[in-house]
Amino acid sequence: MGDLEIEKLQKVFHDDGGDIVAVDDFDVDIEDGELIVLVGPSGCGKSTTLRCVAGLESPTSGQIVLDGEDVTDKKPKERDMAMVFQSYALYPHMTSRENMAFGLKMTTDLSKSEIDERIDETAEMLGIRDLLNKKPDALSGGQQQRVALGRAIVREPEVFLMDEPLSNLDAKLRTQMRTELQSLQQELGVTTLYVTHDQTEAMTMSDRIAVLDDGKLQQIGTPLECYHEPANRFVGGFIGSPSMNFFEVELDESGEVPALVHEGFTYELDEAVHADIRGHGDRFTLGIRPEDIEVVAGDAHNAVSTTVEVTEPLGEVTYVYVDVAGQQYTATLEGDLVIDPGRTLTVRFPQDRIHVFDGATGEALR
Ligand code: ATP
Repeated sequence: MGDLEIEKLQKVFHDDGGDIVAVDDFDVDIEDGELIVLVGPSGCGKSTTLRCVAGLESPTSGQIVLDGEDVTDKKPKERDMAMVFQSYALYPHMTSRENMAFGLKMTTDLSKSEIDERIDETAEMLGIRDLLNKKPDALSGGQQQRVALGRAIVREPEVFLMDEPLSNLDAKLRTQMRTELQSLQQELGVTTLYVTHDQTEAMTMSDRIAVLDDGKLQQIGTPLECYHEPANRFVGGFIGSPSMNFFEVELDESGEVPALVHEGFTYELDEAVHADIRGHGDRFTLGIRPEDIEVVAGDAHNAVSTTVEVTEPLGEVTYVYVDVAGQQYTATLEGDLVIDPGRTLTVRFPQDRIHVFDGATGEALR
């Protein structure tokens, strides 16, 4: 079993400038075998959360519970967890085999032949058998990362904790390792808490994403839940690439049809959208994903007139950067397009695709 509960975790650092609340009331239950990716911008508290779970940092308050047992005050080596770091943290004077054997020798009473057997099996699984007698400085970054993973896997822990384990690899290798890691995790069925600042990594690898900002959990859900139903403006902007477009708008209920009014356009609302947002004041943020923007003829209902600044054809799609009332927005259009800069492009935001966030709190209303 590997049920991991993080309960009301808080970590406050004290330094000369005052208190820094790195993690604030963070609550997550991770089921046995689940892969949760903790994602958020730099400094939001991801590593601190992971380090508290590992026992490398002691929480200011809150509990870490593994399979029903409170492990908050236990030493790292007494927790049945194995950590993989961005820096690999291999011992430079030891061969790969010795690196993988080290933790087992320290924490188990397995015999030498049992340890060797485990290492051989794991090395086979990771395709690193021929690296076992080499030291880290004779290995590439990708190979070192595999050895670091191997060192975690041979321990057969209840939980893997991974802190940006792929971020020192080049883009191609990172994509490949991401897939490998994910299938390995599924095969082993080990509960995993994985930290990254890369939303694509979070989207592609996780069973569930936990989005963190400023020490606080913003949303936890499947990648598609976070993508289609962001809980607030932060999650809407953080998940998805290119990012969601945001327009600051005011609700005008004085006319026959209620509308969101922006400097560059007026957007008349369907009844259902109006019902979701009425009673929340008059300032809102209208969100639309680049891929949900449609090009239309100039006289279409709720048409928005934009000026093209730059197009970036990527083959299958083209990113079109446009200006609306002095601000830049992105539309992802299908196919290969070249549109001259300065041309007018009329677009529409389909009502069933828009997001509306409370202007004051950022909370998603729609
Ligand atoms: P990154 O992606 O850049 O690694 P992160 O999301 O992992 O960032 P943390 O490293 O957890 O963020 O840091 C969260 C906050 O706590 C930051 O403001 C950081 O400066 C602060 N912090 C972390 N460790 C300490 C420490 N030992 N002493 C004081 N402040 C710290």
